[in-house]
Amino acid sequence: MNAAAISIQASSPQKADYEVIIIGAGMGGIGMAARLRALDCQDFLILEKAQGAGGTWRDNHYPGSGCDIPSHLYSYSFAQNPSWSRVFSRQPEILAYIEGVVRQHGLQAHIRYGSEVTSATWDEASTRWRVRLAGGDTLSARTLVGAWGQLNRPAIPAFPGAERFRGKSFHSAAWRHDIDLRGARVATVGSGASAVQFVPPVAEAAAQLTLFQRTPNYIVPRLDREYTPEELDSYRQNPQQLQESRDALYWDREHRFAKMRLGSANAEEVRAIAMQHLHSQIQDPELRARLTPDYPVGCKRILVSDDFYAALNRPNVELVTEPIVRIEESGIRAAARLHEADVIIYATGFETQSFLGAGDIVGRRECSLRDTWANGASAYLGMQVPSFPNFFLLYGPNTNLGHNSIISMLEIQIDYVAHGICALRDAPDAALDIEAETLQEYDRWLQQALAGSSWSGSCRSWYKAADGRIVANWPGTVEEYRAMVAQHLPQILQEASQEASP
Ligand code: NAP
Repeated sequence: MNAAAISIQASSPQKADYEVIIIGAGMGGIGMAARLRALDCQDFLILEKAQGAGGTWRDNHYPGSGCDIPSHLYSYSFAQNPSWSRVFSRQPEILAYIEGVVRQHGLQAHIRYGSEVTSATWDEASTRWRVRLAGGDTLSARTLVGAWGQLNRPAIPAFPGAERFRGKSFHSAAWRHDIDLRGARVATVGSGASAVQFVPPVAEAAAQLTLFQRTPNYIVPRLDREYTPEELDSYRQNPQQLQESRDALYWDREHRFAKMRLGSANAEEVRAIAMQHLHSQIQDPELRARLTPDYPVGCKRILVSDDFYAALNRPNVELVTEPIVRIEESGIRAAARLHEADVIIYATGFETQSFLGAGDIVGRRECSLRDTWANGASAYLGMQVPSFPNFFLLYGPNTNLGHNSIISMLEIQIDYVAHGICALRDAPDAALDIEAETLQEYDRWLQQALAGSSWSGSCRSWYKAADGRIVANWPGTVEEYRAMVAQHLPQILQEASQEASP
């Protein structure tokens, strides 16, 4: 059957069984799908709960939203784009890029939008996943790929009195463009990666912006700029030059991985750059002191901004560092003072700890992923969980980075999963699973390797579980991850050829 025919079949409402179902059409799911098409594996479906592709880049359309990794690197290696308008592209351009990949790789017919997965259950008898959707439909697939991401469930802290607030409020990942901030008194809770991007444009529009900061961050200059017409011409005419730009960005970051180790010379270098940035932009010593972190650099995400500090110098911007006591009808009370506001923007991050995205995933012996991860998520190489056969995660536990592009990690995972899928194709009765001991041994190694990393420092961050265990980050370079995944690959291929489902 040719590709076009299968694509039509994939989008047909009658078809209910697939070789692969991917949950989520963000950068992981789309990359996975493009790889499957390239391997001539056409029998797959992406289930996406929203009405469009793009994941975090679809959801985070707040003013100033953009990526703090340069676009030549924050893009797929198989879909390099010579036309990025600037070094650090903004959300509309990134989303347009992802949508372009969907079109160019013929993925549209493989995506079912508005399809929220409520549960996926492993059926031992048929060695298939039964996937239930919110609308009541049930689909099945030999392999399930969880590509739901980690940053898609906005978290709003339960401040006392929040329900009494008479103004408008929303989360940064659900921006209300219908609420006109011009001339308004705006309060923002949170000062992380999202806030530093929208604070400058909001400060310009609002009459007053009150920023509630719980913990200051290390912020280094972004040094963003537009590409010149000459540069764009040369990238378009000479793909090798684009590849060289990408490689240079990648290797520069790889070589500076040492900054992610506590007390390293590279960490000190980054700290000094951040402090110099702060000192050059904030003259008021009292304000500067409140913006100075007291924990090791890299423990929380190192932020990248050219204009956040400058915004704090504006006369209409106030930084509040006293703890929030409660929310009242007319604003936010911190310590004894009420800060009046017409609009509250919660830039308070995401529910990151569970790693659970789509409904409940139930593996062998009715074992649910939610229960399995009740004391913190873990997965072998971030991708496989014992008792969940033919199930792979993308951007799973301990695969996040602090030094390089997450797309490079995703592509390694996509390659591994694609190999697993191909191996299963050659072994129709096999079910790919891993031993619990394999994960335990890996996890012991992982936690040892993470000791002494910057994330292990004394700070609060979404990289850690409640008990302090680091659940988000990979302890090494991307190349080290690539090597470890490559080392395990022959094993899963062999297992697929040998193992018959029990
Ligand atoms: P975040 O980094 O988790 O920041 C949340 C902010 O809310 C922090 O300042 C936090 O303070 C504050 N907060 C949370 N609960 C609070 C409470 N109860 N009281 C007072 N303050 C509270 O969230 P985010 O800024 O949305 O970013 C999340 C992640 O998205 C980033 O780390 C990054 O991975 C990704 N992101 C990436 C980019 C990019 O350019 N690539 C851009 C935006 C976001 P504490 O620091 O004290 O916890």
